[in-house]
Amino acid sequence: MKSKSLFLTVLLFIAVQIAAAQDSLQVKKDVDRVWDSYELYHEASIKNRFIKHNDVVQLIQKHVSSGLFASEEIGRSIKGRSINHLSYGRGRTKVLLWSQMHGDESTATMALFDLFNFLSGNDEFDSLRRLIRDNLELHFVPMLNPDGAQEWKRRNEQEIDINRDARRLVSPEGRALMEIAKKIEPEIGFNLHDQSTLYAAGPTNKSATISFLPPAYNYAKDMNDVRKRATRLILEMNDALQTRIPGKVAKYNDDFDPRCFGDTFQGMGISTILIESGGFVNDPEKQYIRKLNFYAILNALESIARKSYEGQNLAKYDIIPENSRSLYDLIVRNVSIQKEGSVFKTNLGINLNQIKGPGYASMFYNGRIEELGDMELNYGHHEIDASQFSLNPGKVKILTKAEWDKMTKVEEFQLIKEGFLFVKFSDSASPAGPLKDRLINLTNQENGPLKAAGIGQPAQFLLTKDGKPEIAVLNGYVLDLNKEVQEVPNVFGY
Ligand SMILES: [Zn+2]
Repeated sequence: MKSKSLFLTVLLFIAVQIAAAQDSLQVKKDVDRVWDSYELYHEASIKNRFIKHNDVVQLIQKHVSSGLFASEEIGRSIKGRSINHLSYGRGRTKVLLWSQMHGDESTATMALFDLFNFLSGNDEFDSLRRLIRDNLELHFVPMLNPDGAQEWKRRNEQEIDINRDARRLVSPEGRALMEIAKKIEPEIGFNLHDQSTLYAAGPTNKSATISFLPPAYNYAKDMNDVRKRATRLILEMNDALQTRIPGKVAKYNDDFDPRCFGDTFQGMGISTILIESGGFVNDPEKQYIRKLNFYAILNALESIARKSYEGQNLAKYDIIPENSRSLYDLIVRNVSIQKEGSVFKTNLGINLNQIKGPGYASMFYNGRIEELGDMELNYGHHEIDASQFSLNPGKVKILTKAEWDKMTKVEEFQLIKEGFLFVKFSDSASPAGPLKDRLINLTNQENGPLKAAGIGQPAQFLLTKDGKPEIAVLNGYVLDLNKEVQEVPNVFGY
């Protein structure tokens, strides 16, 4: 009799374990199915990364009227723009997420509004929503630095870097964040930023598309329970992201800086996670990285609600590669260059520098040669094997302004194939600066702006074989001259 009841108890225990495992798998599968259904939650009114305070305020009103979110103003920027705090859920674990402390780092702001759409939805994912709502109390401060966002700049209107203001609290934005953190006393914090698109995940050709950090709370970089929890949550997000962007997750340098909010909050007992959105090939507007943010944060929220992160082995954090500054936008390898009477083979590292467009609502690009020499340890987002080619600065075509105005893209492409990279007007001066919807640059100089390839020179040149142009590098972008006409984001007037 006794052994029979023991047998039944063991059987019941096994059944409960299996049910729990299936339940866990079910929810895990839900988050992955949300990825597939992302378009349903994608906030369509946010079309690019240049989101402004007005957009944010309107979207917050939409979510407050749904009744699931509460909102309050927790401060004003130097220019009087509201800093808004939204809350959602009635659970016991408090989580604070803030984005765009640096005005030109908006990827997570876009993702938070996608997340709000998901959280206020009503569909097959209700069990996941209920899990989050019943276990978590979420607090959001999207776009902490609205003045910086308005002009697409890192610092606030006082020219204070808010993330170096955690001790002094000179900025109203920094004060608002510190006050809300002290009022709520969250267990977990998410500090959401963007990093250079030129960081790689370790010494590889793979972008550090997402980088993580559980900031240190002292110079010795000690690990306590607060920091360990942040690290385990990073491992949860890393596991999820590796299924989407294998090898493209890195970790940020963990040197302690007491001026930073993440380091300060970690020391205050808030398990703080830094998420840095970096680059992804052919995603200059960071719309795919926005989706990755949404997915990583949703995975983290699910994990916090279920406390599943507790099972993560901290040693796995050591395996995540470090951010490495070894990438260029374009590397031209082994090209033959003629300079000062000598001919030699070398490599060119080219980067696309950003130039803000009108109203700080768009971006132009300015491709420049930033390295020349041994680039064995560097990688390019794009690379050209130019071992068969010579670099040629391209010719200047003289045209009237009227001829230029009526020229088609196909005609411009034909001119490039004939070796021309610049047009000079015969009857007037041409404008300087970025030119949209063109392939050929303008110049007011007889011989064109590029004399020979050198550091700081515009990345405008032809790669020729036996004197015939095969590839054009136009403002840092690559055109294959043996294919149909291709486009570039912008060229230049010099
Ligand atoms: Zn930042």
